[in-house]
Amino acid sequence: MFRKILIANRGEIAVRIIRACKDLGIQPVAVYSDADQNSLHVRLAGEAIHIGASPSKDSYLNFEKIVDAAKKSNCDAIHPGYGFLSENPDFIKYVNDCGLIFIGPESESVRLMGNKTSARNLMIKNMVPIVPGTKDPIQSNEELKSIADSIGYPILLKATSGGGGKGMRVVQNESELLSSFEMAQSEAEKAFKDKNVYVEKYLSNPKHIEVQIIADKHGNYAHLFERECSIQRRHQKIIEEAPSPTVDEELRMKITTAAIAAAKACNYVNAGTIEFLVDKDKIFYFLEMNTRVQVEHPVTELITGIDIVREQIRIAAGERLSFSQDEVKIRGASLEVRIYAEDPFNNFLPSFGKISHYRISGGFGVRIDSGIDLGSEVPIYYDPILAKVVTWGNDRNEAINRMRRVLREIQIVGLVTNIPLCLWVLNQPEFIENKFDTQYLTNKFKENGEGHWLQKDEKILELVSKTISFSHSKISSNHKRTSDSSTNVSNWLKRKRND
Ligand code: ADP
Repeated sequence: MFRKILIANRGEIAVRIIRACKDLGIQPVAVYSDADQNSLHVRLAGEAIHIGASPSKDSYLNFEKIVDAAKKSNCDAIHPGYGFLSENPDFIKYVNDCGLIFIGPESESVRLMGNKTSARNLMIKNMVPIVPGTKDPIQSNEELKSIADSIGYPILLKATSGGGGKGMRVVQNESELLSSFEMAQSEAEKAFKDKNVYVEKYLSNPKHIEVQIIADKHGNYAHLFERECSIQRRHQKIIEEAPSPTVDEELRMKITTAAIAAAKACNYVNAGTIEFLVDKDKIFYFLEMNTRVQVEHPVTELITGIDIVREQIRIAAGERLSFSQDEVKIRGASLEVRIYAEDPFNNFLPSFGKISHYRISGGFGVRIDSGIDLGSEVPIYYDPILAKVVTWGNDRNEAINRMRRVLREIQIVGLVTNIPLCLWVLNQPEFIENKFDTQYLTNKFKENGEGHWLQKDEKILELVSKTISFSHSKISSNHKRTSDSSTNVSNWLKRKRND
């Protein structure tokens, strides 16, 4: 087993991995940028190395600085978490070439699955159904037109190297086709330095259902059942759950079998996720594979009792899976809410600043993976996720009820968060009765406008006013930002324009 592991990440996922290391008796080593000097992950690690300036490219994305830090601190391995360098095949190769172990898959598997068209082609070969569309990037306007005609509108243009919803554009009809193509290409070029775009049929009102898989270096593969992540905004997940309320035993058997086939197709080792879209008739289509630990992994941990990060570390050290497929059972239900520093009442504007009051929740069936505490500064440079709240219940209703209780107990002052929106979703009959899909939130915002409507909900108002009563001068009573945080927001907007 490793003696020391360097964690090439920050925030809540760095804290999560630090904890797994300590539970295994391994010394974690944190890295941090200028902006993160006093971050929770730095304080919890016990050993931390400064790796550069605040912009990610100068610190968390810098191969040399990260590997140098690992060598300097005598680490045996690097855990990348999610985001940053976690799905960069060149980084994996660099780590290995420097004599260190990367806690994750082989570079080649990541390269293959990181390209959406090569992944689609591999799935076709292995009889895993894919979303209808093209197998290769589009080469010309003429080709695009004829493909769109044959698939039928609406279609979705997607960046071949895409991720995080970037370079993705829905095209409703021919009049938007060429301008959307141009925009998707330029977004893709900017975000991924690869302007290639391909076409998928835009499925109407699908469910997003994904399967957690895990494999060791001895050829053992297992799945840890499915998660449903259909509550999304701009194609990004907000609330996730396991098991999926949509999946019955027949679909579970088919979709997990397909997921294992997908993992085997790229000789996958370590933890990964196969994402699918599922239509109203419960037909499923491969969407993509995420070759890393995912934000939403805790819901799977709570229903299976398996610590996925611990397994990742053991597998990277050459050990066998600590369980067999037959031993994994679903127990109860689990829900995760992502708490973001962004304002649901105001077009999801990011919120930055210092946390001046922080009350966390707890109790039976509650897990909070947080990257912040009282006094934490939330910097403008990184993803605005602050914490993840995860609940477990004997059944879905119990997990939802518990989540409502927990979200009402949590108080974060100094920043605006999306907690009111999450609480609103948990109170909707469509959510409770499983009558929602990936379009649910988008449609609500389309129908009602930009978010001010949320304030009409009495339960939400009650929650917001409670938080405001703690904040005194920090947030004025009509939920406007403090002057400090509006300065931060305008700085952020300037930075974005400069990027
Ligand atoms: P990214 O890699 O950028 O996150 P994904 O391919 O994983 O993009 O898709 C993210 C989300 O976008 C999905 O969960 C779904 O809500 C939506 N989406 C993607 N492809 C389609 C499609 N063909 N039809 C309908 N919705 C889609």
